[in-house]
Amino acid sequence: MGIVYAIANQKGGVGKTTTAVNLAACVADAGYETLLVDLDAQCNATVGLGVGKDKRPNVYDALAGDSPLQDAVIPTAVPGLWLAPASPDLAGASVELPREPGSETRLRDALEGFRDRYLFTILDCPPALGPLTVNALIAADRVIVPVQTEYFALEGLAGLLDTLSLIQRELNPRLAVSGMVLTMHDGRTRLAQDVERELREHFPELVFDSVIPRNVRVSEAPSFGLPVTRHDPRCSGSVAYLQLAREVAARG
Ligand code: ADP
Ligand code: MG
Repeated sequence: MGIVYAIANQKGGVGKTTTAVNLAACVADAGYETLLVDLDAQCNATVGLGVGKDKRPNVYDALAGDSPLQDAVIPTAVPGLWLAPASPDLAGASVELPREPGSETRLRDALEGFRDRYLFTILDCPPALGPLTVNALIAADRVIVPVQTEYFALEGLAGLLDTLSLIQRELNPRLAVSGMVLTMHDGRTRLAQDVERELREHFPELVFDSVIPRNVRVSEAPSFGLPVTRHDPRCSGSVAYLQLAREVAARG
């Protein structure tokens, strides 16, 4: 039975897309068929895997009901990793979807029927708790929350967890938080150490042991259209994402 993971945090620039792409690549490399669904109008996951923003059909077409999601799925440079590409049109979906009653289950409905084709489906959410993220959280079994170890890290986290429990209670009883992953961590700074300690104290069960270090190889990989694990398999970022993938799989 396939598991659907949403990578969500309403903050931008915290490492959602980087985590979605690299986690998906690690899982695919381990031999599991994996689908990455790019839900962000910025198309960073799509472009980061070497695909243009103009692919048709795409995730927007599927959410608009114009095309089955399966028709949008394309292979990537990583065997076993499949991509449902985003489109800048997704910016409009945030306005269009709420006007249509029942539209919050569009993605869940679109994934119905091929959930089991992929052992892992990973949803890269936009930086807002808007209709697209709500669609993702209703379609998902698990949420992974990337948290950047910086001063405002804790701000908004309590609100995000409240939203997750609300969705779990009202709309998707299957939803569970898989964990929080610390990203862009610079262990040499006092601030990052303090934030890490505080997060582990506040959320002892939730924070993954694996911590993703700040690593230039991670940030340059998308410009080559590759996950970092392909760009430089031995760099600290690749090692950390591989370790995270093992931890995520172990939590089930
Ligand atoms: P989000 O999807 O939450 O907006 P991204 O994954 O796009 O965040 O990351 C924001 C920026 O930080 C990107 O330019 C990305 O390349 C960079 N980045 C993410 N993780 C790392 C890391 N571990 N080391 C260095 N740069 C990173
Ligand atoms: Mg992103």
